[in-house]
Amino acid sequence: MPAPNAIIDYINKNSGKFVQRLAKAVSIPSVSGDAAYREAVFDMAKFLRDELEAVGVTVRFADLGKQVLDGKELNLPPAILGSIGNDKNKKTVLLYGHYDVQPALKSDGWYTEPFTLTVDNESGRLVGRGSTDDKGPVLGWINILQAHHDLKLELPVNIKFCLEGMEESGSEGLDELVVAERGSNKFFDGIDCACIVWRRASFRSTPYLTIPQSDNYWLNTRTPCITYGLRGIVYFKVNVRGAGQDLHSGVFGGLVHEPMTDLVILLSKLVTPLGKILIPGVNDLVAPLTKDERERYETLDYSISDVEGVLGGKLTVSSDKETVLMNRMRYPSLSIHGIEGAFSAPGAKTVIPANVSGKFSIRLVPDQTPDAIEVCVKEYLMQEFAKLESKNTLEIELIHGGKPWVASPDHWNYRAAIKATEIVYGQTPDLTREGGSIPVVLTFAEALGVNICLLPMGRADDGAHSTNEKLDLSNYIEGTKLLGTYLYELATAQ
Ligand SMILES: [Zn+2]
Repeated sequence: MPAPNAIIDYINKNSGKFVQRLAKAVSIPSVSGDAAYREAVFDMAKFLRDELEAVGVTVRFADLGKQVLDGKELNLPPAILGSIGNDKNKKTVLLYGHYDVQPALKSDGWYTEPFTLTVDNESGRLVGRGSTDDKGPVLGWINILQAHHDLKLELPVNIKFCLEGMEESGSEGLDELVVAERGSNKFFDGIDCACIVWRRASFRSTPYLTIPQSDNYWLNTRTPCITYGLRGIVYFKVNVRGAGQDLHSGVFGGLVHEPMTDLVILLSKLVTPLGKILIPGVNDLVAPLTKDERERYETLDYSISDVEGVLGGKLTVSSDKETVLMNRMRYPSLSIHGIEGAFSAPGAKTVIPANVSGKFSIRLVPDQTPDAIEVCVKEYLMQEFAKLESKNTLEIELIHGGKPWVASPDHWNYRAAIKATEIVYGQTPDLTREGGSIPVVLTFAEALGVNICLLPMGRADDGAHSTNEKLDLSNYIEGTKLLGTYLYELATAQ
C-alpha cells in the first residue's frame, strides 16, 4: 500500500521546517565520548523527548546507570523508549537510532562551525556534526510522525523507538537494557520486525539518488541499496617474549632466539598475498555459496573501477567484480595491522627487540563464530611456533570479538523496504552486505530474534565520522519519504 499523497505533499511543503529541526538538533553538541559534553547529551535526549511527545509518542527514559570516563564518574545518557499505536491488528516495528555524535572541533579542518548546521544552497548540502550520523535519519522518523499528526492520519503500523545516546562510545548499557526489556509485558514485547536507518559504507562515493539540481536537471542516477548482512570480527595480539631487555645485535646477534624473527615467521603463516587464510578450519566454517546468492552478486551495480577509484590505483586481488564483492561481503578476510615493540623510527638502530606483539584481525562471516575461530587460531599458532624450536615464549590474546550477522532478504520486512525504495527512487535497490561490523544490529538480532533491515538515508561520501560531515538535502527529504513509504508497505507486506 503506497503512502497517501497527502503525506508526500506534506513532506514537500514542510522541507524548510524539517531543515530547521535538524539545525536545532545539530546545535546540541551531544558528544558521548567526552565528559565535558555529557550535559549536552542529556539535552539532546530531552530535545528528542519533546519532539516525540509533540507528535503523539509516549516516551520513557530508561536509566542505563553510570560509567567512568576521563577519571570521572558520569551518568550514562538514557535510552529513549517511545511507542505510538497499540492496535493488535497492525504490525509493530522497532526503530533504532542514536542521538550522540562523534567529537568535532573547527580546528580539525571543518570549513564551518561543526555544531551549526550550514545549508549550502549551491551544492544542496546540510553540513554539520550529526547531520547524517545519526540525527538526520532519527528526525526523518519524527518528520513522518509530524505529517500524520498534523494531517490527523492514522499510522499504518505500531511503532516503538529505541534511541540511544552512547552509540559512538560502544553502546554502553544497551545490551543489558534490551535483555531486561524483552519478554511478555516488557517494552520490546510484541515487535514483528526492526529497521535501522544507517549511514552507508560503500566503495562507491557516487550518490545513489537522482538529485534535482536546478529545474529538471537530474544527475548521478545510480542504484540505491539495502543492507542485509555485516561481517563480524576477531582481533588478536600475538606476543613473543625473549630476553629481559632489548639487546644489541653486535653483542648478542647470532647467540639468542630473536622474538622479532619468530613473530615475523608466525605472521607470514597466516595469509597468502592473495588473501587466502591459511589457518586450518577457518574457511571450513564459511556457509556455502548458494546459486541465488551468487546471482545477487552478479546483478549488483558495482564495478572494479568504483573500488579502484577509492584505492587510487589498480590494486584489487582480482579483476572479477563478483570475486571482489564476495571477498568483502561474504568471505572472511585476515589483515595484519602492526607490531608493537618493534623498532619503527627512522634510522638504523641495531636493536634486538626483547618483546614484540603482532596484531591481526579476521573479519568473520556466517557460520563462523569468534569462539570457534579463536580455537583454530590459537591451536595453529602454537603448532607453528613449536616448529620454530624457539626458546622464546608465545602468548596469544583475543582482544575483542563480534559475531557476523545476516538477515533473510526474502522476509516481508525487506520486501517492504525494496518496494518503498522503488516507489521513492524509481529503482530496484541493490541488496548488499557490508564488510564491517555494527554491534547494535547483533544486539537486537540476538535478543529479539526479529528480522532487521538496514535502510540508508545518506550517501557513502557523507563523511560520517570525519570533518565536514554532511547530509544532502535531497537525501534528507527523499529519505523522509522513503521512511514513510516503508511504513505503509510494511503494513501490507507478507
Ligand atoms: Zn557514527
